[in-house]
Order: sequence, then C-alpha cells, then structure tokens
Amino acid sequence: MSSSPDTVAREVRRRRTFAIISHPDAGKSTMTEALALHARMISEAGAVHGKAGRKATVSDWMEMEKARGISVSSTALQFNYTRTEAQPDTEPTVINLVDTPGHADFSEDTYRVLTAVDAAVMLIDAAKGLEPQTLKLFQVCRHRGIPVITVVNKWDRPGQTPLELIDEIAERIGLVPTPLYVPVGIAGDFRGLYDRRSGRYIKFSRTAGGAKIAPEELLDAHTAANVEGEAWTAAREESELLSEMGQDHDQELFLAGETSPMIFTSAMLNFGVRQLLDALVELAPAPAGRTAVDGTVRAVTDPFSAVVFKVQAGMDSSHRDRLAYMRIVSGEFERGMVVTHAQTGRPFATKYAQAVFGRDRSTVDTAYPGDVVGLVNATALAPGDTLYNEPPIEYPPIGSFAPEHFATLRARTAGKYKQFRKAMDQLESEGVVQVLRNGTRGDASPVLAAVGPMQFEVVTARMLAEFTVETDLEPLGYSLARRTDEASSAELDRQRGVEVFTRTDGALLALFSDKWRLQYIEKEHPDVTLEPLVAAA
Ligand code: GDP
Repeated sequence: MSSSPDTVAREVRRRRTFAIISHPDAGKSTMTEALALHARMISEAGAVHGKAGRKATVSDWMEMEKARGISVSSTALQFNYTRTEAQPDTEPTVINLVDTPGHADFSEDTYRVLTAVDAAVMLIDAAKGLEPQTLKLFQVCRHRGIPVITVVNKWDRPGQTPLELIDEIAERIGLVPTPLYVPVGIAGDFRGLYDRRSGRYIKFSRTAGGAKIAPEELLDAHTAANVEGEAWTAAREESELLSEMGQDHDQELFLAGETSPMIFTSAMLNFGVRQLLDALVELAPAPAGRTAVDGTVRAVTDPFSAVVFKVQAGMDSSHRDRLAYMRIVSGEFERGMVVTHAQTGRPFATKYAQAVFGRDRSTVDTAYPGDVVGLVNATALAPGDTLYNEPPIEYPPIGSFAPEHFATLRARTAGKYKQFRKAMDQLESEGVVQVLRNGTRGDASPVLAAVGPMQFEVVTARMLAEFTVETDLEPLGYSLARRTDEASSAELDRQRGVEVFTRTDGALLALFSDKWRLQYIEKEHPDVTLEPLVAAA
C-alpha cells in the first residue's frame, strides 16, 4: 500500500540532499563524521572513508564489497537532525549526504553525484583557499544551477583572513560569499562565531580530541565584548563592512547560485558543525520535481520515479553483479516494488534494495524523493537511466563531463578484436569511460578519455574479467579538451600538440598537450571555435 500524496509531500518538505565538494585533505571525511556525530545517523549506503587513527564508519555492505573485490567507494549517509531552536513537536529533518569520491577515486562518477543533489557544501581549507578539485566540482554545480553553501574549515589553524578568502571566491569564481557568521578570533585562534543575523555570540569550548559535540555558550553582544575584547570588535567590524558591500544573506540570490552563505568551522574540534546543519535545514532547498525528456514535469508527489546516477560493477569474474544507486525523484519507494526501466521498457525487481544500507535495515523499507537507494543485480542499469511506476517517464541523460586523462587501448592479440569491440561498446554505454575516434587512428586502438585515471583501470580489469580480453593501455600526451566544430577542425589538425576527435555522442573534441598550447592556439587563431566542456547539453 502506497502512502498518500500528503505523506509524500510532508516527507519531501523535511528532506535535504547535498554533497560536499572539496579538494583532498580539506577535511571532508572529518566533516562527514562531525555531521554524523551531531545528527543521529539512521542509515548508510557505502561508507565514510576512515583515516588511520580515527574510527572508520564501516557498513556491512562495505565488508561485502571488500570480500567480493569490488572497489570500495562510498555513497550516501542518511541522518535525522533537529535544530536546537525547533518546537518540541517538530519532526526531525532527514539529511542525505551523498559522497563525492576524491583522492584516487576521483572520476566521472564524482561529477555524476552532483546530479543527485539539491545543494552543495563547498568545503575549503582556511589556509589554502580554492583548490583545483573544488573548482572543477564547483563548475558542475554552477552548470546545473545547484546552490552552494561555503564552509571555511580548519579555522583552528593559521590561515588567511575572512576578507581575503571572501575576495578570492568572489574574484576567481564570481560567487559572492554572504557569511552567516563571522569568526571571532583569527585563523589559529578560533573562539566562536558572531551570528550576523541575531547579533549574538556563540562561544565554543574544546573537548578532548574533538571527539564530542563542542559545548556552546550563547552570549549577547555586551557580554561578548567583555569576554572577547578586541577579537569581538574585529568580527563586528568585518560584519559591518560586509553589510556595506551588500554581502548579507539573500535567499533568492542563494537559490539562483549567485551568492553563497558562508560559515567558518573546525571539523576537527566540532566547531561550527551545528551551524552548518542549521543552514542546510533552514536554507537549502527541499527536493523538487524534474523535467522529463518530453518537457513534462513530474512533481515530487506524482507516482514513483528515480534516476540512476552511479553504477558500480564487480571486478571479480565470478560475480558480475552490478550495484546501481538511484536518487528518488517522485513518489514513494517501497522495497520489493517492481518498477519499469525506461531505457529498455523491462520490469526491474527491487527486492534486494536493502542490502546496501548496512546495519539498520528496518528503516529503509520505504524511501522518498531526495533519498538514495542502492540496487543490487542491476545489470541493465546505466548512469542517467530512469526507473518509474506508471505513468511512464524518462529523464534527460546525465551527459559527459570534461575529460583530462587520455590513453589508447588495444587488444593484446589480434584474434580478440571482435570481443574487444563488443566490450568497448558495452563499457562505453555503461558510462565507464568516454571513447574518442578519428580517421587517422582507426578503430583498433580507440582513445579513451576519463575524468580520473581510475576509470582506465576499471576498463582494463573488466575487459579481462568479463570479456577475457587482455589489453595494452598507452597514455597519450594530452591533458585537456575543448569542444570545437567542423569548420575549425581542419585548422586545428594542422597544429602541433593538438588532435581532433569525435566522441560517441557526436561532440567534436580537440585535445591539447597542455594549457600553454591551448592559449597559444587561441591567440594565433582567434577564429577557431574552442569552448570549455563541463557537461554535455
Ligand atoms: P579529506 O581528504 O577532505 O577527507 O580530509 P580529512 O578529513 O581526511 O582531513 C585531512 C587532514 O586534515 C586530517 O589530518 C584531519 O585530521 C585534518 N583536519 C580536518 N579538519 C580539520 C580541522 O578543522 N582542523 C584541523 N586542524 N585539522 C583538520
């Protein structure tokens, strides 16, 4: 029995689904654990990457993945959170944190995750400011119109000043930070937060090793001035300066992706973590309906529909299981439901949906828009695919993201060529890697293009395990791609360090050895079309 649209609407209103975008080492794992500490974790799909010396949160599923030799990547954590100021009978907010794999796992999947969220938290290191991986992920958020909350982490360590960080963000990416709080105490001397909207002071105290929720004291301005002296005055002045520059929070501009509420934190000491959760509850949007390929809009209260945003395949030849993660777009999901796979028109049984949720199985028999559900035995599903209950619906494909790694691949023995072709088509259609071709190179050694080099490893491992084709991979000396057109390709092909290819989706891509080569050609041949790639239209 399915719940009424009213139940679905209520569940949707209390959901927030977001991802953290950051560069390795900015503190994403530490922040994830701190968020889970502040909220009550109700289920997890995949796992938080634990680091040495800290307790890792490991689900049953992760053990299963390890036992089967599937590469461990994360996926989604779900927790309940109630704001301190909430009325006693308020239902908790259900927060879904979808992981963006980084470090060695950085791949096209990392970008695809961003198609499954309604908001992003841009986590930056107070000393380092904006770093390359954060920038790339931010570009995807901008392209997709995802609102961004900025978190300046590691404020307990020496770093830049708030205004330097704010200027850097505004100037480099054109996102205007509107701090909700200004830190009291410079970076390295984190005492608390000046709440710009209430005018109050939130004073933090340390706990041993940051292992517990940091105690907070709420002080009025007068008391704060007495307690913190100069540091309080400085924070107040910074806040006034920001107001003069128009950098106060504006909900409409935030949702339009023009401004970004900003918070200062120490994930390690658990400072500012509650404020981040409050901002997510108060400001981040609840799940919304989606536009289908035919232009119709499915409202969240309509019958069940979901989009697959990530597919993980077993690397072990004896287990060809595929694990697919879907984000629910509309309606109620009940485990065991038989839904339709829009791309094939075939039924898909979901009775094993619970397996990926690890420990707490009882809570996941139903799920609502914004939630992430993992499906095992999902052989037919590829990223971007739609699952639905009547009436039929199909959401637009996710598209490809800008590749930065390129290599040629060929079958080691000519006799395996047919299997090689078949495997290549299969892996490409699953979105494992992008495939580029041109007349000069021929079909025997296509060029693979990827966001992260791990994608190549997946290709060669699966070629061997599933298709028994041994392959040779040879890295190519290109590091970036631009979209071009027919008219420009002849001119580009004459240049040194440039090669033009057709991607399977029909896009013409020009590959460049490095950014200096690209800059040189842009300068010498201003008439040639070269557009940055983020996501395909
Ligand atoms: P990730 O790579 O983004 O997941 O980063 P981690 O969470 O693993 O953090 C990288 C390092 O920074 C670890 O040594 C953390 O202990 C440390 N770290 C994370 N957050 C903070 C913080 O707020 N303050 C300080 N001082 N160190 C932090």
